[in-house]
Amino acid sequence: MGNNNVENEINNSSLPTNFIHNIIDKDLEEGTYGNRVHTRFPPEPNGYLHIGHAKSICLNFGTAKKYNGLCNLRFDDTNPVKEDIEYIESIQRDVKWLGFDWEDRMYYASDYFEKLYDYAIELIKKGKAYVCDLSPDEIREYRGTLTEPGKESPYRNRSVEENLDLFKRMRDGEFPDGARVLRAKIDMASPNLNMRDPVLYRISHATHHRTGDQWCIYPMYDYAHPISDAIEGITHSICTLEFEDHRPLYDWVLKELGFPNPPKQIEFARLELTNTVMSKRKLRKLVEEGYVDGWDDPRMPTISGLRRRGYTPEAIRDFCERIGVAKRISTVDIALLEHCIREDLKLKEPRMMAVLRPLKVVITNYPEGQVEYLEVENNQENPEMGYRKVPFSRVIYIEQDDFMENPPKKFFRLSPGNEVRLKNAYFIKCQEVIKDEKTGEIIELHCTYDPQTKSGSGFTERKVKGTLHWVSAAHAVKAEVRLYDHLFLEEDQAGEVDSIAMDGMNLNPKSLEILESYVEPALAEFKPGSRFQFVRQGYFCIDTKDTAGDKLVFNRIVSLKSSYKPE
Ligand code: ATP
Ligand code: MG
Repeated sequence: MGNNNVENEINNSSLPTNFIHNIIDKDLEEGTYGNRVHTRFPPEPNGYLHIGHAKSICLNFGTAKKYNGLCNLRFDDTNPVKEDIEYIESIQRDVKWLGFDWEDRMYYASDYFEKLYDYAIELIKKGKAYVCDLSPDEIREYRGTLTEPGKESPYRNRSVEENLDLFKRMRDGEFPDGARVLRAKIDMASPNLNMRDPVLYRISHATHHRTGDQWCIYPMYDYAHPISDAIEGITHSICTLEFEDHRPLYDWVLKELGFPNPPKQIEFARLELTNTVMSKRKLRKLVEEGYVDGWDDPRMPTISGLRRRGYTPEAIRDFCERIGVAKRISTVDIALLEHCIREDLKLKEPRMMAVLRPLKVVITNYPEGQVEYLEVENNQENPEMGYRKVPFSRVIYIEQDDFMENPPKKFFRLSPGNEVRLKNAYFIKCQEVIKDEKTGEIIELHCTYDPQTKSGSGFTERKVKGTLHWVSAAHAVKAEVRLYDHLFLEEDQAGEVDSIAMDGMNLNPKSLEILESYVEPALAEFKPGSRFQFVRQGYFCIDTKDTAGDKLVFNRIVSLKSSYKPE
């Protein structure tokens, strides 16, 4: 551990360490970058961020924080056709919401287009880059394979003057898309395909969302990225594993351009989640083909979807910390994410009553017109949350599945002749089942209550086994409740190609269930986005998009029962 780092380590000793931090510790010890640690999060603005990006955000911003360093937000906007201002705005909102701050360091790769062009001229002058007229197909053909070396392009030995002239004319718009490219001159026999004269610039007569029609040549990621990192003074450029084979090119670009103290690319395994797809391309398809209600559909693994669903930034950061950072790809059980939100909300949010699938119960011996306001604790596990009043009256609703006319042996809820406790209220006993004459469907129960059994009265003469939640019919508020399940049926989506989302196969047809429910009146007083536990039903939040006027919509964040098994 370097001396300059000891203090940070002490201040942030609760933060977990990982192999990337070991590399940084060593750099600090050896003074590779002085005492600087500077990272960046470099999204391509071609879609909304997802939970995989959250892992990268937590890692990059978290690492900077741990070492009292800095982290930049940089839009990697080198591909004009797929990018959009909507995505740029959503990305900023999501990073902020997760609790991170780039301060005044928000950059765009497009800020560097002029510099990147100048650096390309420098490479040409050094004889390290050339303009190639092969078609994209020919370039692929000449590249060779893992077992065969590539073939040199017939344009490889153009003079510096000719290259400078052609590259300038590429920029000036003289040639159509695909006619020419600028390539690095490295080694067509390299065992690493990325080093076989990779393309640095392509022609694309496309309007860029920031630079407009100023450019018709655009730099490739492998060229723009290392230079952008170097310009910003990044020390550790953290990316996902698929870029491991690109690292020699990253290093080559910076070495040939003579950047002193170049940044270091470090790769980690991307997050994969069970029952989830994580590629922006596939997520976009789900949105565009209408399988979901937009990028922020509460079933989506996007940050905006998770936010609308009711997830908290704390739970997502906790999840990212628990999964850790490694070199080996492993698929994480989505149950762990669900575990994290339960843990976060358990003590924070009030526990309220809502009847999702209502069955009417008339308490025949309760005085008509009488209302009692019963005192109910907001969270039994957190007494600091205090009490509220819940109205009780003659007609209430209970859950349909809390009643069975012909119950099996161990059914302790309500059934004919059986007595149960209404949570925080009285014991009731079912006396009569009222059915629809035509359909035979149960439409109402007639029960009696025992006034002695009032909650808090100290009544101990009889015990009952079941406790049901309920709402007073006269006071309850109608609400739409949306229950969500995983978007995909198969646990493992990793091996799937485009077909999955594409024809709807594999999509879970029951990923959304909409219920007409009744909730206790206090729930109507909360703002959209508020979260609760609904007793016995799970954690819910008021939907921020569809709640308006009289319409009250709740999203189920997660059920109470966990399928998560700690290892
Ligand atoms: P996708 O494959 O979902 O389109 P991407 O890698 O093309 O993602 P970028 O916008 O380029 O998306 O990603 C920005 C940063 O987030 C990159 O550093 C990338 O490595 C990281 N990232 C993307 N997906 C994941 C993931 N599943 N797990 C961890 N990090 C990720
Ligand atoms: Mg990418």
